[in-house]
Amino acid sequence: VLVVRHRMKSSGRWARAVAILKELEEKCAAPVGKLRQVADAMTVEMHAGLASEGGSKLKMIISYVDNLPTGDEEGLFYALDLGGTNFRVLRVQLGGREGRVLKQEFEEVSIPPHLMVGNSHDLFDYIASELAKFVASEDEGDRPPAGRQRELGFTFSFPVRQTSISSGTLIKWTKGFSIDDTVGQDVVSALTSAIERQGLEMNVSALVNDTIGTLAGGRYYDNDVIAAVILGTGTNAAYVEHANAIPKWHGPLSKTGEMVINMEWGNFRSSHLPTTEFDTALDSESLNPGEQIFEKLISGMYLGDIVRRVLLRMAKEAALFGDTVPPKLEVSFILRTPHMSAMHHDTSPDLRVVGTTLKDILGISNTSLKTRKLVIGVCDVVAKRGARLAAAGVVGILKKMGRDSSPRDGGQVPRTVIAMDGGLFEHYTLFSTCLEVTLKELLPDDVAAAVAVVHANDGSGLGAALLAASHSLYLQPAAS
Ligand code: BGC
Ligand code: MG
Repeated sequence: VLVVRHRMKSSGRWARAVAILKELEEKCAAPVGKLRQVADAMTVEMHAGLASEGGSKLKMIISYVDNLPTGDEEGLFYALDLGGTNFRVLRVQLGGREGRVLKQEFEEVSIPPHLMVGNSHDLFDYIASELAKFVASEDEGDRPPAGRQRELGFTFSFPVRQTSISSGTLIKWTKGFSIDDTVGQDVVSALTSAIERQGLEMNVSALVNDTIGTLAGGRYYDNDVIAAVILGTGTNAAYVEHANAIPKWHGPLSKTGEMVINMEWGNFRSSHLPTTEFDTALDSESLNPGEQIFEKLISGMYLGDIVRRVLLRMAKEAALFGDTVPPKLEVSFILRTPHMSAMHHDTSPDLRVVGTTLKDILGISNTSLKTRKLVIGVCDVVAKRGARLAAAGVVGILKKMGRDSSPRDGGQVPRTVIAMDGGLFEHYTLFSTCLEVTLKELLPDDVAAAVAVVHANDGSGLGAALLAASHSLYLQPAAS
């Protein structure tokens, strides 16, 4: 192959590169028929995951949230939001039905990469120290009333087996995290110990996944929010289930009869998913081989790296960037999804952004317009596959909820709102637009007209604070 490559004429090289794109396009195709199969498979796995612990790749985690915010929440609450790349600390003043959010302040810090793969103690110490700094800088008037402890909602965006609303053990890390000694630990105990080491007094009143926080934050403003989807570094969804439709739940039923479920859909897999050799290689070289397969096709941590892998093959087999393979193209995760998004959205006539991104990030200079167009073609295939699959996932949820088709009695289609958040959804417009268009493609017109996707901007932090409020230490009626 090598010999042939060196002798290949430039027209032959080009044809080879185009052929690689064409093959990618075919393998990544997600036509409506295939998406329906994916949606159906999602619904089937949802049932299986609710039936028994370990019954499915979908963990369908019981969140212990059986009452979503009403608007009546009141008081000063904190939230700590540990996501994929950043974490934020928030302080929220809730004013009840009339006042709503009176005041909200936050601090955002990026997590030092070495802490993502170090040890549990160091990670939690770092988080707690940032929390302590935040509290120390508080104005007099922002403190809780005398004699009252500070209360915190902890958004922890990883799969946790909840043991109550305010405790749970880490099942596994995902995204860029890999810290062996946290797995199996109660993350609230780990955080609480670290908070104590800081000499801080704070009670963790709620432990929630970011999807649950986003659902709670979304519901606070709109009663028709029934599901939440995160499309960021990782991906996941949560929705409101009937507690009596959860065979594995043996606990009490709340007044609402509801229970919010954290699906952990990132771990979904199905033979219907369109995958390629690039996905297989990405998975096997990842921190968590064999895990989070749906996530690896959809989320922000991976899309850029899939594109890089395709370009690398084009460089090797079609000499797309000249006779030598640009060394940086061999570096995993060097081309990040924001770079991919910037290239994909480039509408300048000479595709200047594509040119500078290839140069600045991958060290590839002097690309022709034709080459730049081909690069956009690769971004387009990879982004659209992800967006269409995410839409199929949403349809799977709507199906499980009985909201994917017109009511059989000819009645009105209920309004259905899905709260979405995450950097991918927020910043990669071609991705989110494709997701919304695909959703409409998959639903009957009257249902599509009643389904709304809303951006719950940083709803997960607010949601955690709201859930801390509704599970506050001080709500329990005093024993008399
Ligand atoms: C985690 C989920 C999380 C999602 C979005 C996934 O990798 O497993 O718990 O909700 O990322 O942050
Ligand atoms: Mg966010």
